[in-house]
Amino acid sequence: MTDRAAIGVDLGGSHVMAAVVDEEGKIHSKHELDLDDHAPSAVVAALASVVKLAIDGSKHDVVGIGIGSPGNIDPGSGTIRYSPNFGWENVPLGQRVRDEFPKYRVFVANDARCATLGEYAHGVGQGTQDFVLLTLGTGIGGGIVSGGALAMGNQMGAGEIGHHQIRPDSGFICGCGKVGCFEAQASGTGLIRHAMRLAPSFPRSGLLDVPRERLGSKAIRKAAQAGDAHALATWSAYCDDLALGLANVIAFVNPAVIALGGGVSSAGDFMIERVKPLVDLRTTMVPRGTTRIVRATLGNDAGAVGAATAAMRGGLIAQAPAAVA
Ligand SMILES: [Zn+2]
Repeated sequence: MTDRAAIGVDLGGSHVMAAVVDEEGKIHSKHELDLDDHAPSAVVAALASVVKLAIDGSKHDVVGIGIGSPGNIDPGSGTIRYSPNFGWENVPLGQRVRDEFPKYRVFVANDARCATLGEYAHGVGQGTQDFVLLTLGTGIGGGIVSGGALAMGNQMGAGEIGHHQIRPDSGFICGCGKVGCFEAQASGTGLIRHAMRLAPSFPRSGLLDVPRERLGSKAIRKAAQAGDAHALATWSAYCDDLALGLANVIAFVNPAVIALGGGVSSAGDFMIERVKPLVDLRTTMVPRGTTRIVRATLGNDAGAVGAATAAMRGGLIAQAPAAVA
């Protein structure tokens, strides 16, 4: 008997990746293409070509295709109701892909919810009932598992943690139009914005010699570890904002584990050990220190692993179905 697998697709603004993922969440192969045309037909064509390569090269019994896409998505039909990344409204992505692959079950869901399912089922969320993933990248993507179920919300909007405001009076302008969203303050972009805002106070800062395109969390962490005052002040302001948001998440969800992924999380303990006491300081109605704050383990693969898992389970189902005896 051949082992079962599904194709997990990570659809991003600039590229599409299809992976063969088995039932243990292990990736066996990856196929990628850049996307420069956001017209639905061009995106479907690129997506179909990487999925076909993945299926043709797989030694597994492929049972379905799961797609994680940015935007607000109806997981029943796989229609993208709204996706600012692609400029799409009501694009029936699921049906278009089903037309290309009529033999396969096709499932489409929001990429951040897929990543949450991936990290919960096969990463650092395993064994918990209450779990939150926050991906600190260009923005903040996330998702909530509560009582062993992935929270979807009335209009599929649960888990949009990046857009709760933490600095409405003094914060940075968010891509969504509000001021001081958690995402604007505590994403990777937020870290760089903190560095820029603090720059006038540190005219001799070595960070200002780093070319703007290379100024990221890694450069800012290295400078801080070397004792650069500007970088240390940047991390301090950033961790304060990150902690504010994390304490709010604890108040809303009371998770056992919050996993931090995305580019900024590569700072690891340097960041997490700074953030923990600040979170404790702001945690009031939940016993302090009872939420573990850890690094996510699946990295950029979480979305594809989660999308494939959803395709195998027939939905964004957090608990694996009991094995049939
Ligand atoms: Zn926002």
